[in-house]
Amino acid sequence: MRWDSYLVMSSTEDTLAALAEAEGRARIIAGGTDLLVELKREQGHAQPLKLLDIRRVQALGRIEQQEESLVIGSAATMSSVTGSPVVASAARALAQGAGFMGSPQIRNLATVGGNLVNAMPAADTAVPLMALGAQAHVASGQTERTLPVEELFLGVGKSAIDPSKELLTHLTISQCGGPRRASAMKRMAPRKAFTLPQLSIAVMIELDAALAAFENVRIVMAPVAPTPKRAKQAESFLIGQPPTAQAIEQAAALAREEANPRDSIRGGAAYRKDMVRVMVKRALSDALAQLGVEIHG
Ligand SMILES: Cc1cc2nc3c(=O)[nH]c(=O)nc-3n(C[C@H](O)[C@H](O)[C@H](O)COP(=O)(O)OP(=O)(O)OC[C@H]3O[C@@H](n4cnc5c(N)ncnc54)[C@H](O)[C@@H]3O)c2cc1C
Repeated sequence: MRWDSYLVMSSTEDTLAALAEAEGRARIIAGGTDLLVELKREQGHAQPLKLLDIRRVQALGRIEQQEESLVIGSAATMSSVTGSPVVASAARALAQGAGFMGSPQIRNLATVGGNLVNAMPAADTAVPLMALGAQAHVASGQTERTLPVEELFLGVGKSAIDPSKELLTHLTISQCGGPRRASAMKRMAPRKAFTLPQLSIAVMIELDAALAAFENVRIVMAPVAPTPKRAKQAESFLIGQPPTAQAIEQAAALAREEANPRDSIRGGAAYRKDMVRVMVKRALSDALAQLGVEIHG
């Protein structure tokens, strides 16, 4: 492995100053569950780096329900996210996604920020965060920018965040709880634990005041493309529809058409495409059940 110094950061400001000073020769390290594997692979030809460990920066590990939004620090671990009562009630799909990841040991180290910046197409927190419409807050030097989580994903392993120059500080999820909004994630995998998904679906729904029609819907599928993908036709179709079995069936069929999975060691393309329909129905039914809505014919 190639690094010439390992610095433990104590604040966001220190981290930003160290990134700026290193002029591209530093790298943020959080849990290290992806980065250490990557550095080992690059052994021998990569330039030595300064690693900036952010795990002790308290502000980056916070999980807070604020008036308008839920705030998740980028260095919040999967264990803290999946075990948080605040996340479970306001952003259930995210609690589920973090709980699906790896093993208990991995979940104790792995962070939400690392999962997003690593930019794998079926990253277990990216799928629910996209469904929840989360915003990513990114800082470098004196500047800050905010962008939707879905814009972080540029391709397989390609993030809009450069971890040698920028720090993902936190995520915000607005208006995600309440009696009319719910979210859910379903994940299909060969085993229940310690394996990557064959298919994941996360949904967020918002119904009208009478709980009689969909007002807002987001459906995210992965891996069915190089990045997590929204089923936009299925989402548009559901707006204004009553929460009936027929409407859900039709939306699930549209999502299936929008998915373009590939054959891989984890599953065949045709099977995964068919399972999109099944899993979208399950995720929507789960979200509706949380609101106490019965699905009729
Ligand atoms: C055995 C094993 C099982 C796994 N199982 C799963 C699984 O089931 N599902 C899944 O989705 N993933 C899985 N992973 C992948 C990995 O654990 C996750 O992607 C994890 O969330 C990465 O977080 P980390 O804190 O360890 O990131 P790190 O390895 O520390 O960093 C990853 C990348 O993000 C950058 N980075 C980290 N934090 C920030 C920040 N705040 N700002 C800017 N850049 C940052 C780093 O520089 C690096 O480029 C697994 C990995 C292993 C080793």
